[in-house]
Amino acid sequence: LTAEQLPQVIERVGGLIVQRIQGLERTREELQQMLDQMVAQLEMLSRYVAGHDLEEDERKASNDTLNTQISGEMHALGSAVDSGNDLATLRKHLRTRMDSIGRHLQDFKGRELERSRQTRERTDQMRGRMEELEKEARKLHASLADEKRLSLLDALTRIPNRLAYEQRLEDELDRFRRFGQPICLATCDIDHFKRVNDSYGHRAGDKVLQVVAECFAASVRSTDFVARYGGEEFVFVLPGSTLEDAQALMNRIREKVAEVGFHFRGTPVSVTVSGGITALRAEDVSGDAFDRADKAMYQAKDAGRNRVVA
Ligand code: GH3
Ligand code: MG
Ligand code: MG
Repeated sequence: LTAEQLPQVIERVGGLIVQRIQGLERTREELQQMLDQMVAQLEMLSRYVAGHDLEEDERKASNDTLNTQISGEMHALGSAVDSGNDLATLRKHLRTRMDSIGRHLQDFKGRELERSRQTRERTDQMRGRMEELEKEARKLHASLADEKRLSLLDALTRIPNRLAYEQRLEDELDRFRRFGQPICLATCDIDHFKRVNDSYGHRAGDKVLQVVAECFAASVRSTDFVARYGGEEFVFVLPGSTLEDAQALMNRIREKVAEVGFHFRGTPVSVTVSGGITALRAEDVSGDAFDRADKAMYQAKDAGRNRVVA
C-alpha cells in the first residue's frame, strides 16, 4: 500500500467493523426481546399453577360448607323427632328440612359449575400460551442455529471461513494425536489476483473468487475440508491423505482451476493458483502446520506460480 491509499483502506475496514458490530447488536436485541417474551409467558404459567392451588382450597371449603349444612339439617330433624310432636307437625318439619337440604345441594352444584367453567377457561388460555411459548422457543433455536451457521461461513463464497477452519483444525489435530492417521494441510492462493481486480474491476474479482471457491469445494471428498482463509487465499484440511495423496489432489485442483476458462466481456482471462502442502506432525501447535504450508506456497510462487510444492 502507498501512504495515500492507507487512510482510505483504514476507513473502509472501520466501516466494515461498524457494520458487523451493528449486525451483532441487532441479533442481540432480537434474542433479548424473544427471551423477555418467554419469561413473561413462564411467569403466567407459574401464576396458573398457583391459581390451581387456590382453587383446591376453595373446593375443600365448599365441601366443608355442604357437610356442615347437611349435618345441621339432620341434627335439627333428629331433635324434632325426639321432641315427640304429632305426625302433622313432624311432617311439616321434615318438609322444611328437605327443602333446605335441596337448596344447599343446589347452591353447592352452582358453585361447582362456576368453578369448573373458570378452570376450563383458564386451562384453554394456558394451553394457548404454552403453544405460543413452544413456537417462540423453536424460533429461538432456529435463529441461534442460523446465527451459528452464518458465523462459520464466508459471506462472499459461501464456503467455511477462517473461524470454521480454526475449529476444524483443532478437532482434526485432536484426532490425529489420538489415532495417528496421516493428515495434510494445504494453502492455495490465486496468482496475480491484483491484476484481475486492476484490469476488470473488483466485482469481476469477486466473481472469480466465488467460482474458484466453488471449484475447490466440488473437488474434495466429503471428509476433506476447504475454507477461505482470507482475501484470495484458501486452506484445505485433508484427513487420511499422505503427502503424495495431497500432492496429487492439489495438482488436480490446480489444473481444474486453470481449465475453467474465465471470460470478461468476451476476452479470456487466465486464472491460476499456487499451493503449498505439509503433513501434520504430532508436535505441531496451532499455526505451525499453516506456516509450513504457506512457506511451501511461496516457494511455488517464486518458482513461477501455477504449481504446488509439498
Ligand atoms: P500473488 O500471485 O503473489 O499472490 O499476487 P496477487 O496479486 O494475487 O497478490 P497480492 O497479495 O498482491 O494481491 C491480492 C489481491 O487480492 C489484493 C486484494 O485487493 C485482492 N482481494 C482480496 N480480497 C478480495 C475480495 O474479497 N474481492 C476482490 N475482488 N479482491 C480481493
Ligand atoms: Mg495471490
Ligand atoms: Mg495472497
